[in-house]
Amino acid sequence: MRYPPAMPEYDVLVVGAGNAALAAAVSACEQGASRVGVLEKAPEELRGGNTHYSGGLLRFAYDKAEDLRPLVPDAERQVTGFFSGVEPYPHASFRADLDRVTEGRSDPELSEILIGRSYETVVWMARQGIVLEPAVSLSAVRVGNTVKWSPGAVIRAQHEGIGLSRMWFESAGRRGVEVRYGASARSLVQDAAGRVTGVVVQDAAGMREVSAKTVILGCGGFESNPEWRARYLGRPWDHAKVRGTRYNTGDGLRMAMAIGALPHGQWTGCHSTPIDAGAPPYGDRRLTDKTNRLSYPYGVLVNARGERFFDEGEDFQFYTYAKLGGIILGQPQGVAYQIFDAKGAPFLEGRYKTGTPMVADTLPALVAQLPLPRPVCQATLDTYNTAVGSGAFVNPSGSPRPKRYST
Ligand SMILES: Cc1cc2nc3c(=O)[nH]c(=O)nc-3n(C[C@H](O)[C@H](O)[C@H](O)COP(=O)(O)OP(=O)(O)OC[C@H]3O[C@@H](n4cnc5c(N)ncnc54)[C@H](O)[C@@H]3O)c2cc1C
Repeated sequence: MRYPPAMPEYDVLVVGAGNAALAAAVSACEQGASRVGVLEKAPEELRGGNTHYSGGLLRFAYDKAEDLRPLVPDAERQVTGFFSGVEPYPHASFRADLDRVTEGRSDPELSEILIGRSYETVVWMARQGIVLEPAVSLSAVRVGNTVKWSPGAVIRAQHEGIGLSRMWFESAGRRGVEVRYGASARSLVQDAAGRVTGVVVQDAAGMREVSAKTVILGCGGFESNPEWRARYLGRPWDHAKVRGTRYNTGDGLRMAMAIGALPHGQWTGCHSTPIDAGAPPYGDRRLTDKTNRLSYPYGVLVNARGERFFDEGEDFQFYTYAKLGGIILGQPQGVAYQIFDAKGAPFLEGRYKTGTPMVADTLPALVAQLPLPRPVCQATLDTYNTAVGSGAFVNPSGSPRPKRYST
């Protein structure tokens, strides 16, 4: 504990430089703070946290398609008939989705803030210079002459996460926010009364205290810390690959708990996505989220034993993919094979183009290429095909002949 300097260096010091941190820094300026600083652990060329790697897709509630017009005024120019293809996504639909995917176990107070303020937050982001666009390659399906959208997942930041991160840095720069790169927050400084008065920072020059009237922690989770993953998520999470930044190692949680913050929320679960088995151990700055493999509802998933282990069609992909990564990790060798036929292949997301598929003219010829017990896999697929009932193919928008939409 220390006596704080009479004049702290910053009014507001934000730890981290992703979406949360830079939104907080910009908001602090908007509220009248005049000296706002940001500490970014990464060097400048690797800045921006997971935000840089994200698809920049924003899920938020809106009562009618027209509510999106102020956010994407040019949408009709990009996608003809855009507003007629968008279904309403009111508060109740967002609530129902959240309750379904969490099996009713989301925090009632926090989830109410998340849903209830989602629209106004996106409007605020747009006012701060975050340019938005229809999320065509992620969520759009063409049905006849109309492009249909997965409700609530329609809008993204222009140029996805790379654009989102860049626009936040630009917005903060316009407000005079000072960003220090390669500056890692190590611990929180308190005064005799226990008030947080600054941060111990480590950078190329060594360790020093930086004082501030207010400190905001926006420095991500612990997804890039294998020891914490093993500690909280259990086996075999230390083996998982990370799609994003290598700098989120739980520092904010550690610093806060070290001064008595109460741990809250869920510690044994995480957002985990199926990615290409050849993806690097951490995110690739150029590929960003393009290693995702989310078109599994159109095919059959088998593990390294050649057996199915997941209901591919339990729900639409946006509602199941975030658990499927962890389920695959728990399978033998932590891998799975996604098998598509010629009917399913046209619906694959464009992101599959970054992978190298095994292709064959017949199912047995395809199975023959897979490094797994082939008779078991063939039997699995035969059982699956025999079980399929008759009837028309029903696609995500309910029409007989959808096509993936891309610009
Ligand atoms: C590949 C991928 C795709 C995604 N796609 C989407 C999507 O389309 N839509 C969506 O809603 N979500 C998506 N997400 C999730 C989304 O990226 C995150 O939820 C969001 O960006 C998190 O923002 P954040 O500011 O909390 O953390 P981050 O953006 O991760 O920022 C954390 C920051 O803290 C810094 N930091 C960490 N420790 C310290 C320290 N000790 N001192 C100083 N700085 C520190 C990091 O360097 C970084 O700048 C995706 C994530 C990934 C990885």
